[in-house]
This record gives sequence, structure tokens and C-alpha cells, in this order.
Amino acid sequence: MDNKFEISEDFAKKLDAEDTLAQFRERFYIPQDTIYVDGNSLGLLSKDSETSLLRVINEWKTLAINGWFIAERPWYYFSEDLGKMIAPLVGAKTNEVVATGTTTVNIHALISSFYVPKGKKTKILADVLNFPTDIYALRSQIELKGLDPQEHLVLAPSSDGRYLDEKIIIDLMTDDIALIFLPSVLFRNGQLLDMSLLTKEAHKRDILIGFDCSHSVGAIPHYFNKWEVDFAVWCSYKYMNSGPGSSAYLYVNEKHFDRKPGLVGWFGNNKDTQFNMSLDFEPSDNAGRWQISSPGIIGAAAMEGAVKIILEAGIEAIREKSLKLTSYLIYLIDEILSKEPYNFIIGSPRDIKRRGGHIALEREEHSFEICEALKSYGVVPDFRPKNIIRIAPSALYNTFHDIWQIVQYLKKIIDRGEYL
Ligand SMILES: *Cc1c(COP(=O)(O)O)cnc(C)c1O
Repeated sequence: MDNKFEISEDFAKKLDAEDTLAQFRERFYIPQDTIYVDGNSLGLLSKDSETSLLRVINEWKTLAINGWFIAERPWYYFSEDLGKMIAPLVGAKTNEVVATGTTTVNIHALISSFYVPKGKKTKILADVLNFPTDIYALRSQIELKGLDPQEHLVLAPSSDGRYLDEKIIIDLMTDDIALIFLPSVLFRNGQLLDMSLLTKEAHKRDILIGFDCSHSVGAIPHYFNKWEVDFAVWCSYKYMNSGPGSSAYLYVNEKHFDRKPGLVGWFGNNKDTQFNMSLDFEPSDNAGRWQISSPGIIGAAAMEGAVKIILEAGIEAIREKSLKLTSYLIYLIDEILSKEPYNFIIGSPRDIKRRGGHIALEREEHSFEICEALKSYGVVPDFRPKNIIRIAPSALYNTFHDIWQIVQYLKKIIDRGEYL
């Protein structure tokens, strides 16, 4: 991508005028007088999600129990249907994805199935910059196998507390590793790991590998089937714009469809025989077998509208605009805010092949106060200790002018000492 930017406001407006995804902004509810750049924590409600939500509420009102089979999108198959819909976003076959559970629960469901310590291979490899819930889940899965997480969870180190190095991770893929579980994009600095390379290297050593893609699905294309990733999980309420606490997704590569789920529940049963109510579990022959409970249909309804927009915009186009937004932000910070007295540092990869959907803006001092001052201008970023302001522009509802304004506000906040 060859981006030649300029610092003028007119140039920001020119970028917006050329933006082929600009029309999608109108499909979202953007809180009044707000520049919302927190889509990697909670994506915004779209009119499409509102429509699908209202439809399902009306079906509940008018069809009651019959909604499971005769609703417009029958509730009984809703989870598998959503999986089919989003399969192209993650490069999966239609039966390899299902909308179910929540991210942490899905991590438990999949790790309990894929972590089978045997002989010399007893350890899980993860990393020190991982999201806390993922690490808690891994430790508890190790304990449930009667092993000690101190010994059996290996965390790849970071040399600078910001980045991970694939080479270091690969060096740790030793004989005693049974399973690897890593993030696709690191939640703090937005570094994108090379999932294809890591999967290849893991498989060379007979190690299974899964990814938590909560910070990448909806912002970046994935090719799970082609890469031969064993399994993956991700939430739907960040770049997928599907609503607070809405159902999550899981992916399992088709070669594992005969694997026994670790946490079995009746919604993992073959759909044709589930309602025979036999006490003998008969798992479905697709990713659906890792489901546990009845799907939360109300939340899933919001997912339907949200996914429709992403498919319409196209994930490749979303990625292209997302990179242009973050590259533009980096450019403006470098040009306007990198020297005394501003001293902002870009804590995210400059190489677009290694960059996810957000930028970590760092500053040695007062970054928390600066983040608070930014909020007083109606900007909604978020803050991650100890000194990171995360700015996550969404390709679907943010503009280049939003980015330009944020940089002007930051400049003003420092010029006037408003953070003090
Ligand atoms: C957002 C996120 C989660 C969220 O987990 P929940 O179970 O939905 O609360 C988990 N892992 C990662 C890496 C995340 O970014």
C-alpha cells in the first residue's frame, strides 16, 4: 500500500470523499457528538442489527415455542446458520464455524478437547502478553488434568514488553509441548502474529495449535482452512459489532470432527436426533459438536444484522481501509506529535503485515490524564495500563476526518496543558 498523506484538514476530507466504504457509516448509530474509536472493545449498534433483533423479538411475541422451527431463520439452526454466514470471513468451510457460548467458555470447551497430555507431550505454550482470561482458562485446564500450571504452561517472553517475536515462539516449540494457544492480534499493541507460519512450524513438530482471534475477526481476513489451523475462538462484540456479551464463535478444522468434545452438552448432539432425548450423546459431525447449551437467540439476532454489513462491505475492503486509517494516524502523529513537548510514541507495528486494527499510542508521562482530556472532547478511545491510549478506527463507521480531529485535540491538550 502506497499512502502519501498530507497534514491539512482538506486532505482528510479528500480521503473521505474517495472512501468507497463511506456509505456504511449511515447504517450505524454513532453516539451524538462523539468520535468513537473503541470498536475493539465494543462495536456500535447498526440499523441492520436493530432490524434483525426486532424481528426475533416479534417472532418470540407471535410464534413463542414455534420460533425454534418456523421463524424466518429457525432458532434451532441459528448457530449453524451464522457459522455458515461468516465462514468466508475467516476462510473456513461452512461446517467448520458455529456461533455459540462466549469466548472464555469456548476456550474451555476447545482446550478441554484439544489438550491431551500424553507421554512426553504434556505442556501448553502461550505468551506473556496474552489476554488474562485466556491464561486463567489455560491454567485451570492444566489443573483439571491433575498437572501443575507452573510447570506445564510455558509463556513465550517479550523482549520489550510490547512485541512478540515468532522466532522465539518457534524456538519454544519443543518435544514436551502438546498444544499451542496464541492471540492473532495482541490486545495492547495490536501486533498481528503470522498465524500461517506458526501453524506450519507447530505441525512440523506434531503440535496442535489454536488462536484467539477476538482482536482480528471483522477487521482482517483469515484463512483458517488453508492455513490448517486446528481451532480458533473469537468474540462477536468487538469488530463484529454484535452487541455487549453477545454470543461468540468457534472454528474447528474439519480433520478434527471425530474428536471428543471435553465439555459435552445437548446442543452438541446431532440435530436430527437431539430431540429423541436419548441419554447417549450422539455428537454432530461438524463444529457444532462443541456447542454446550441452547443458543442465546436474542443476542444471536444482533449478530445476523452485523454480519450482513461486513459481508456486504467485504473483508478485503475493510482491511484495506482499516490499514489506511491506522497508517494515516501514524503519519499525523509522526508529523505533528512526536517531538517535544508532545512526545507521543507509536507502540504498534509500522509494518502493515504485522499490524492489526488498532494503534497503541504511548507517552512516557500523563497518558492516563491525556486520555481523560481526550474524552472531554467527545472522543471515545480506551486506556490500557500502564501508559497506552488505544485508538481503534472502524473501517465501517469512522472517517479520516475523525482521525485528523483526534490529532488536533491531542495537540491542543498538550499545548494548553489541559491534562494537568
Ligand atoms: C475480548 C476478549 C475476550 C473476551 O472474553 P469473554 O469471555 O467474552 O469475556 C477473550 N480473549 C481475548 C483475547 C479478547 O480480546
